[in-house]
Amino acid sequence: MSLAQGRHYLAIPGPSVMPDRVLQAMHRPAPNIYTGELIEMVAGIVPDLKAVARTRHHVAMYIANGHGAWEAALVNILSRGDRILVLGTGRFCLGWGEMAAAMGVECEILDFGPRRDIDMARVAEALAGDTDHRIKAVLAVQVDTSTSVKNDIPALRATLDAADHPALLCSDNIACLACDAFEMDDWGVDVMVTGSQKGLMTPPGMGFVFFNDKADRARGAADLVTPYWDWRPRVEPQEFYKYFNGTAPTHHLYGLRTALDMILKEEGLEQVWRRHAVLAEAIWAALEVWGQAGPVRPNITAREKRSHAVTTVNFGPGNGDRMRAWMTEQAGVTLGIPLSGVDGPDAATGDFLRIGHMGHVNAHMVLGVLASLQAGMTALQIPHGATGLEAAMKVIAEAG
Ligand SMILES: *Cc1c(COP(=O)(O)O)cnc(C)c1O
Repeated sequence: MSLAQGRHYLAIPGPSVMPDRVLQAMHRPAPNIYTGELIEMVAGIVPDLKAVARTRHHVAMYIANGHGAWEAALVNILSRGDRILVLGTGRFCLGWGEMAAAMGVECEILDFGPRRDIDMARVAEALAGDTDHRIKAVLAVQVDTSTSVKNDIPALRATLDAADHPALLCSDNIACLACDAFEMDDWGVDVMVTGSQKGLMTPPGMGFVFFNDKADRARGAADLVTPYWDWRPRVEPQEFYKYFNGTAPTHHLYGLRTALDMILKEEGLEQVWRRHAVLAEAIWAALEVWGQAGPVRPNITAREKRSHAVTTVNFGPGNGDRMRAWMTEQAGVTLGIPLSGVDGPDAATGDFLRIGHMGHVNAHMVLGVLASLQAGMTALQIPHGATGLEAAMKVIAEAG
């Protein structure tokens, strides 16, 4: 017998749950792309995107997923033969660096492994060694979705400043924008990339590159830039079609408009961050108790270095795979697969799973996942501390 019938919950770290209102906003005939409502709506989306990124500077919008936003950022600031510093804390920043390498950019990679955040002392050392300032950009992820580590972006800014190094600070916020707190301007981030399908609660298909004037000066020298990916024509264009260098992603824009209203006007960005923080703490509380009498371990040990958008968990040998299968078949919840690179000498890939808790997620959804996980561990005879769910409920109860 299966108990999975009912509304299925896809609790993977992107694409995330889309609000019914976002879906309904998209359910309409094609709008006119030359005049009328759509044109005015896009003019309003631009400042709201900047409000979510906490920047006064620029945003270029693309019809692209996160990988497209990665490429857009790279081509606008780099030339073939340039050197960059890639700060690996999981699959994603390394992937961004691999893309740059394939474009003829020389990558110096500092790989901090799958269980920790960026070691600023090693970054400082690399910057100090670059006496003739050949490094043009430093690539980092705020949250690496494979390991669920959260990097300290202000500390990275401080490290660049202490070294008096002019490299651009580039941050991948695809997993965590509108989930984990982020302040582009106050933190001195020069380029930030994100996508529509995680914290922004909209289908995959829109990518965003935020950049400041310093980054735009690098655009002036970049020889990798191509007409389609050029960010300049997309910022404050005189003609509407130039926002997207062709037909706009009409239906995504209606969905995004609704999602931005929900984030900025209805809930408020800081309250959105707070909700994610409390829900993440509830998950961590359960994991901690479960781990007291069994193999369950969050991948990232230090709480302040964990994301509020996604949690990578080691359930013990082979148990990540077993738990994912049980959750889908018996509880109607699909959890995230582990991504390659999270394994290592101390663990195998099949030990892990990932819980997505980004975007349109509330207390009952998270408690439902946690209760189902606890039932699954009992069913599969995975030893665990018995009161994990109670610990999570206590976090929720005390948050009010
Ligand atoms: C999801 C994600 C990406 C990739 O985004 P796609 O839309 O799948 O191309 C890149 N970086 C991070 C941190 C992500 O979470």
